[in-house]
Amino acid sequence: MTELILRINVSGQPMGWIPWQAAVLHYARDQVVWTLGDETMRYYGGFNRIHKQRSYVDVHPIVAVKGVVGRSRYETVPPLTNRELFRRDRHTCMYCLTSLADRHLTRDHVLPLSRGGDDVWTNVVTACRSCNQRKAARLLKESGMRLHAVPYTPNYAEWLILRNRNILADQMAFLKAQCPKERRDYL
Ligand SMILES: [Zn+2]
Repeated sequence: MTELILRINVSGQPMGWIPWQAAVLHYARDQVVWTLGDETMRYYGGFNRIHKQRSYVDVHPIVAVKGVVGRSRYETVPPLTNRELFRRDRHTCMYCLTSLADRHLTRDHVLPLSRGGDDVWTNVVTACRSCNQRKAARLLKESGMRLHAVPYTPNYAEWLILRNRNILADQMAFLKAQCPKERRDYL
């Protein structure tokens, strides 16, 4: 199974994706305080010689693990990577609106690095190679090109959605509830 388990803290803040093996360890160590999601996944452990049966753990899609505080981590700006950037922009060039495979896309700095722009979520958009080359080191107004969306920094919940391509329905519903309303429907 390739599903990842969404680990949250006891305050209900999403902390990250963990492989099921790590979730099983949390169950075994009695660190799971509560769980969410109806769809459980059963993972088998070793064979118990006394009872002559295999042990198993039913893992919920979302597990609240005690001892995980992470407020500061939750508030941290998610790392900027092309994979998540292209996904934020739905694999579409924000200048000409062409949708392309990731290998044909680039990270464009709206305010070019050479003009003092930063390499941050709010200054980068997905661009096809030709638009990126056409814009080059010019400002938007100098290039005469039009930017079709304002770049934004995803919050931690949005970033977790961007990170994982195999999100279960319960996990998606939980994360979407923590995304800004205006972007919820686009994720
Ligand atoms: Zn383009």
